[in-house]
Amino acid sequence: MKKIIVAIDGYSSCGKSTIAKALAKYAGYMYVDTGAMYRAVALYMLQHGITEESDIVEALKDVQVGFALQADGSQHTTLNGEDVEGQIRTLEVGNRASQVSQIKEVRAFLVRQQQAMGEAKGIVMDGRDIGTVVFPQAELKLFLTARPEVRAQRRYDELVGKGEHPDYEEVMRDVNDRDYRDTHRAESPLRQATDSVVVDNSDMTREEQMAHIYGLFDKLTT
Ligand code: C5P
Repeated sequence: MKKIIVAIDGYSSCGKSTIAKALAKYAGYMYVDTGAMYRAVALYMLQHGITEESDIVEALKDVQVGFALQADGSQHTTLNGEDVEGQIRTLEVGNRASQVSQIKEVRAFLVRQQQAMGEAKGIVMDGRDIGTVVFPQAELKLFLTARPEVRAQRRYDELVGKGEHPDYEEVMRDVNDRDYRDTHRAESPLRQATDSVVVDNSDMTREEQMAHIYGLFDKLTT
């Protein structure tokens, strides 16, 4: 069976990681969550009170982001060897990640590592620039989207599930702010690759969506 690269891009909270994980499992591929890498960089800067762009760039040499496979098959993000999976999933870190991700050197630093992970193919990677910058040669490119209010509700439910007490209006604002920053930044803005398949999952069940995506994958690999 032919091994390919699957690039999944899209707006925040449109289920990219759930879909990417399910597809990686289906295909027996490695899964890489690039948002987690930007979040880990952001966490480092928050922990060390580093806010100036030039200081952030300078500090990159002290940042090592990795993934540790868990006994249940899931992956936890590591920052300099420490498991930071719980710490990177907050609104604050997500917000900071969307800021540090605007810095050219931060992107180059992580993109290099992401490209190295895909050398052997057999990978599903999700993010904002995977089909456009990291793997423009990816055989399957998916662009996921959903209406902003649907995504805000999903993010809200996710945070509640984690024991946080979010304010819905704040979550909605956060979704809109991040969309704006992700699509308007100078460096690798979120945009749809011309050869990507758009999946708007606002009104799709998970099963409908996965059946569609597995079908696309099977067509390319068998
Ligand atoms: O996907 P997630 O919400 O975890 O990503 C956090 C932030 O990292 C995003 O808002 C986005 O600004 C940034 N990001 C990026 N490029 C990627 C993945 C994430 O700029 N490939």
